[in-house]
Amino acid sequence: MHQFHQQRPTWAEVSLAAVRHNFLTIKKHLNPDARLMAVVKADAYGHGAVECSRVLESIGADWFGVAMIEEGAVLREAGITRPIFCLGGFWQGQAEDLIKYDLTTAIFRLDSAEELNARAREAGRMIEFHLKVDTGMGRLGIPVADVAEFAHSLKRFDRIKLDGVMTHFAEADSDETDYSETQIERFKEAVKILRELGFNPAWQHLANSAGIHAHPQSHGNLARAGATLYGLERDVLASRPEPFGLRPVLSLHSRVSMLKTVPAGTPVGYGCTFRTTRESRIATIPIGYADGFRRAHSNNGRVIVRGRFAPIVGRVSMDLTMIDVTDVPDVELADEVILIGEEKGLRIAAEDLAEEIGTISYEIVTGISSRVPRVFSLDDDPAIML
Ligand SMILES: *Cc1c(COP(=O)(O)O)cnc(C)c1O
Repeated sequence: MHQFHQQRPTWAEVSLAAVRHNFLTIKKHLNPDARLMAVVKADAYGHGAVECSRVLESIGADWFGVAMIEEGAVLREAGITRPIFCLGGFWQGQAEDLIKYDLTTAIFRLDSAEELNARAREAGRMIEFHLKVDTGMGRLGIPVADVAEFAHSLKRFDRIKLDGVMTHFAEADSDETDYSETQIERFKEAVKILRELGFNPAWQHLANSAGIHAHPQSHGNLARAGATLYGLERDVLASRPEPFGLRPVLSLHSRVSMLKTVPAGTPVGYGCTFRTTRESRIATIPIGYADGFRRAHSNNGRVIVRGRFAPIVGRVSMDLTMIDVTDVPDVELADEVILIGEEKGLRIAAEDLAEEIGTISYEIVTGISSRVPRVFSLDDDPAIML
């Protein structure tokens, strides 16, 4: 890594104390016999997988969930020792690495079961996996109608063991609960079929954050929480019951790097899509769509400066964004600008940004690019050791 005396003033702060609070809060809502898998795929939804996982492991996360082998390997290399589950299975040729990094995978294809079995034999090991069943998501998983046939085919593999069954909800965040209830019923049917065929899966898991929240009967003995660990709720959970009351984890910051007073009628940014209608103070901040601050925020959104909202004006460009600070007194060069976060009672949540540009908060936080340094704080909670 290069060492600089000073860095570009654009950064994301991640409160690990808030992650801890959220984990413990979600745990309180789980049925007592259910364990909690902390889903830390996509670099913990942009929050830093290694740092978040260390804290979560220290406070009792039972499992970690990643999307793929590559993400699991990063956690193992960082010293995470709890079970790590590959939600998306693995690509052909990756079974060897799966075993090497001691990861547990979902299986939903016979060819991957075969590959895993072959590599397990070579390694002289017995490898456990979880069968992924499609109960209505239509993405990954064996349709319930095909589970019996698939399970029969698994019997010829002597080096892999079906140790869990899982499925995934399509709309557990909906206030319409029928579809999720149907999925739960189909899941029970799949488990029954497996039992009748002599399988005895130790783990049964269905619920994501929204399932944990709205469908307690889906907790099984393991539940998989992602978004809620990072304090995202408004566009993650159904409107009933009450939200968990989580703390936001990530805030996004920059500083004023250019400041000028311009006359009425001055165009701002690419395409001249904004024109001042009065003498205006325009500030430029060094953050753009290459940082994950989306171009869709052009003339559409606001930031917090000196405890006031200031509108985004003109197009967001790759590295830079302009804001109108005419109504914010005394703005100076290097003043802090908050794009996600809270100051003096004003708040911009990831959910707000998502709403402004027609997406979900998941996409906002995972989209903050690697160009933005993450700064971790333990703030009010000195008990956490990294
Ligand atoms: C990402 C993911 C989760 C976590 O979902 P959240 O809505 O973030 O809680 C759970 N299960 C599977 C299979 C996933 O892919």
